[in-house]
Amino acid sequence: MNKQASVHYITNVNDEAQLRKGHTMQIRVRFAPSPTGRVHLGNMRTAIFNWLFARHHGGRFLLRIEDTDRQRSHQGAIDQLLAEMTWLDLDFDGDPLYQHTRSDAHRAAADRLMQAGHAYAYANGDGDAAVLFRIPLDPGPEYSIVERERISVDIHPDVPVTISSAGITYAAISRKGKPIPSECCLAGMMRLKIVGDNGVVRYDLGKDPGAVTDGQPPVTVDNGTTLSFIRRDVRFHDLVRGDLSKPLDSIKDFVIVRSDGHPVFHLANVCDDIHQQITHVIRGDDHIENSYRHVLLFAALGHAAPAFLHLPMIVNREGKPYSKRDGDAYIGELREAGFMNSTVFNYLALLGWSPGDDREKMSRADIVNAFDVSGIQLSAAQMDIRKLQHMNGQYIADLPFDAFLHGVEQALAEQPWARNADPAYFREVAELMQSRTKQFTDAATWQYFFVDTLSYDDRLVGKHIGKPGIRSAFAQLLTALREIAFDPEPIESAIHAVTDDREIPRGKFNLPLRIAVTASNTGAGIYEVMALLGRDRTLARLTHAVDSLCADDSEQ
Ligand code: GLU
Repeated sequence: MNKQASVHYITNVNDEAQLRKGHTMQIRVRFAPSPTGRVHLGNMRTAIFNWLFARHHGGRFLLRIEDTDRQRSHQGAIDQLLAEMTWLDLDFDGDPLYQHTRSDAHRAAADRLMQAGHAYAYANGDGDAAVLFRIPLDPGPEYSIVERERISVDIHPDVPVTISSAGITYAAISRKGKPIPSECCLAGMMRLKIVGDNGVVRYDLGKDPGAVTDGQPPVTVDNGTTLSFIRRDVRFHDLVRGDLSKPLDSIKDFVIVRSDGHPVFHLANVCDDIHQQITHVIRGDDHIENSYRHVLLFAALGHAAPAFLHLPMIVNREGKPYSKRDGDAYIGELREAGFMNSTVFNYLALLGWSPGDDREKMSRADIVNAFDVSGIQLSAAQMDIRKLQHMNGQYIADLPFDAFLHGVEQALAEQPWARNADPAYFREVAELMQSRTKQFTDAATWQYFFVDTLSYDDRLVGKHIGKPGIRSAFAQLLTALREIAFDPEPIESAIHAVTDDREIPRGKFNLPLRIAVTASNTGAGIYEVMALLGRDRTLARLTHAVDSLCADDSEQ
């Protein structure tokens, strides 16, 4: 593992010019999903951004299946993940790396860390010991740890402070004066002094926190009121967010190998990034907390950390993380809901990235060309299903007709009325409806073209057909429609003749008419719809409306 990668690691992650020199530094990124369930669109957005970054810079896009958690990972999830990636045309380079196959390498890395004093065995209770990574005491430059000022923290005097090589426990004080159990790594409180009443120093860890050696029982100090220590931050640079830092006193030493011998995510993730020679880790901002730990692990393993780039969270309209409750949250659901793969790719690429102009519907090639770190936004990205529908409508409108027909046929495969439809008539309906279709599944509403009996929504009927004057207007129209050629233009003229004659504003009649002949309040132009329905069906529906749906306004 220690063989230095042949990759040219970025020496200055701020240096855009280095990024652009794809020919001298092969960019290698990875998508590293945990196959524990369906693929959330946030996960796929991460995959897309990695893919775009690699393709834009002529780098490599690797797939790593993070299946170390053998209980939660399952083959079904892996199959689905691969299928969704294929659907979105996210081709990866080389074979997928299955993380569980590298458990021995992960354990060997943990052994090396232990030998070097970067990790230690720790038994919590009677069971076997886990291996914990020690947050480094040594603030050497390779650890990205910066020393700050001496600070004082008030603590609850009733709870003793314990200090051991595994960390410091104490009680912070809540607003109401109650103790809050707290814990941090030994490295988090440099040159710790525990001060009691009247400023008496009750304990002084001295200049060398390493004085607390492994295996010794904790030192317990009573009646402290203040912890005084030199605060240090762990810091890394994020290509989007700039320098990020976190005080070490808010971090604990963490488990890297469980007591049952299983390597933990942090270790496996970092070891495999080294193994796969990853130059850029691009992942959701929910991983920022992990990245603070990972930069320390990279250094302890003797490797330069890759560049980090954390993507903004995907949120709903209220700004909360977008979840199942907000609508389709899994890629499979978007596919089943009749969204096109090109739309989903395009839309997700814009969820947290912008080309810097107002382009929205962009071809894959254009996105690859324009994709640039500077276009990645800091603020949360709002998932708006209506925007997705609108974009899908644009994609559908631009489809060659046969491709549209194919998509619709697939979406309607389970509908007997569609399967039994006359193909030529079905084509005519599809031609009329293509420019108005936002999702393939919208085609389920075309049923009124193909069935004899419609079921009407009482509320729609009551509101629009039940109005005075509609019945007699329908009756007049019925007579007129018997006489004309049944094409859109003569139909339109016949309708206008009725509305003009009865002084009904033109716009007020089409909706009741549409509801009567289609049982729906939306659809294509009503004259075209009636022409396509044909005279017999149209007349039968209008007759039914007059006989059974309209209010009795027998006048004139
Ligand atoms: N397996 C992790 C996850 O699915 C990804 C970690 C990473 O990208 O580094 O959240």
